[in-house]
Amino acid sequence: MTTHPISDRSGLGPMLCMQGQGVVKGYAIGRAAIMSAAALEVVHYRIAPEDVEAECGRLKKALATASDELQVMVGALPDDAPRELGPLLTVHSLLLDDPMLLQQTCDLIIERHYNAEWALTTQGQILAEQFSVMEDEYLRERGADIRQVIEKVLRVLSGSTALLPSLDAGDSNDPLIVVARDISPADMLRLRGARFAAFLTDLGGPTSHTAIVARSMNVPAVVGLGHIRMLVRDGDMLVADGFTGAVLVNPSPKVLREYRQRQAAYADERAELALLRDAPAVTLDGIQIRLEANIELPEEAVAALQAGADGIGLFRSEFLFMGRRDLPTEDEQYEAYASVVKTMAGRPVTIRTLDLGADKTLDGDITVATNPALGLRAIRYCLANPEIFATQLRALLRASLHGHIRILIPMISHMHEVHATRQAIDSACRELDASGMPYARDISLGAMVEIPAMAIAIEPFVETLDFLSIGTNDLIQYTLAIDRGDSEVADLYDPMHPAVLRLIAHTINAGERAGKPVAVCGEIAGDSRVTRMLLGLGLTEFSMHPQQLLDVKKEVRQAHSNALRVKVASALNRAERIDLAALSN
Ligand code: PEP
Ligand code: MG
Repeated sequence: MTTHPISDRSGLGPMLCMQGQGVVKGYAIGRAAIMSAAALEVVHYRIAPEDVEAECGRLKKALATASDELQVMVGALPDDAPRELGPLLTVHSLLLDDPMLLQQTCDLIIERHYNAEWALTTQGQILAEQFSVMEDEYLRERGADIRQVIEKVLRVLSGSTALLPSLDAGDSNDPLIVVARDISPADMLRLRGARFAAFLTDLGGPTSHTAIVARSMNVPAVVGLGHIRMLVRDGDMLVADGFTGAVLVNPSPKVLREYRQRQAAYADERAELALLRDAPAVTLDGIQIRLEANIELPEEAVAALQAGADGIGLFRSEFLFMGRRDLPTEDEQYEAYASVVKTMAGRPVTIRTLDLGADKTLDGDITVATNPALGLRAIRYCLANPEIFATQLRALLRASLHGHIRILIPMISHMHEVHATRQAIDSACRELDASGMPYARDISLGAMVEIPAMAIAIEPFVETLDFLSIGTNDLIQYTLAIDRGDSEVADLYDPMHPAVLRLIAHTINAGERAGKPVAVCGEIAGDSRVTRMLLGLGLTEFSMHPQQLLDVKKEVRQAHSNALRVKVASALNRAERIDLAALSN
């Protein structure tokens, strides 16, 4: 986080510019409402030895009350509450019920004679430090859960209930922007009754609860601002930029005007795009294009549907396996897949089998591969761990009873991997038959094209499989020998390299000849700047993050597909870089 004071202007506090991480896009302009933070207002005193027992009792009661309150919230979740909230609240209530938290905090009361609030904040700091040194980013961020439940108990101990000040709006109709150290799921639930323009927090990252819940509420959010809660006063004028993560405190009238214009322009742009939701994705020369969504968690299927997606083109199932110590059971997976299929109401749902390895590992997995990107990952990992694979396949087959599931295999390079996968599916079917479990028998099987060898020798794959989906993120990495996560060589990671485009074109042409559908589900499918280029390669199926879908649809509807094909083919024949500007009408 960086903080820059800009100037001192009479009547207003100094203008400050703070930098955090924008986690939900959008602009917000409004007045600060500072959220109470009991942890910052804790009183410290020592208690008399004879009061130790009563103090432990006070702590125990407060923990129980806080946990009960959370349970009540879970039981009374309104229908329109973000779907993430229930599980998050349950995790918090489980943390409060953990006997270790009570025991270790009571030890501090007994041994050091701290009052309950002091003991609890001390224990919280010990736990937060333990989490902060964890290697796994997800687990590091879970330290926030500890801080949030402790904050809740401290509020119970202090008897205070108000989260936000009752601001005197005066003549101002400005919306409120919540400024907090951190926002717990329970706080989010209490706040959601009112409409806030943005959420700004000192703590948190892209997978923090504030980010997850704000995203599902579609409210701009900037997290990781460092000390905004201390630097801003109630009623201060704020501008939050959810794109860049910039927050301006008490901006000058000129800056404010500039941001009001940006806000209005963005709102117009979104409103215009929203009109396209139900419009067909057809090019000017009548080519029908399928636009599907990439999701990582089952809940995101709702956003896909709202964006008008024709289906799910890529469900990265490994996210069900990450950030936990155990493996999801067959039933858990079945529920997750079935919920997506039901949400998508008959539209196809492409579920990729476990793509672990490289940058995506199981928690607690300390195996260090010689070169993780080239090692035992994705389908190689699944075929080497037949029990894990079989569990997932049974769950997929069972869930396909509820709709249209397509199984997608990642990182295929050899035909024998396709045969081994088919055998694994057949054996999962036999296991389900033996246990009398119903499932759909006619499931289609496809593969990601993300290893150059497969794209070059595509013919047997396209004949054998039902569909293909080109994973350009990895295809580019392996074609150009550029680690997709290495910032040192990021400038060489070039989706427009003629070699990459030739591999894509070759795959699409092979699909066309065999009458098999070919999609692109890597990041370039959602980049509206390259939509015309992909149409020029003959692509008719795109899968992307739901938020990008309408931008791409707009491009599709303004493009002339056949003219683009001629232009792109002639550039590719000469192995030339394609000039994107030359592809516009
Ligand atoms: C890809 O490689 O393009 C892809 C879509 O998969 P992931 O980004 O999950 O590797
Ligand atoms: Mg990939």
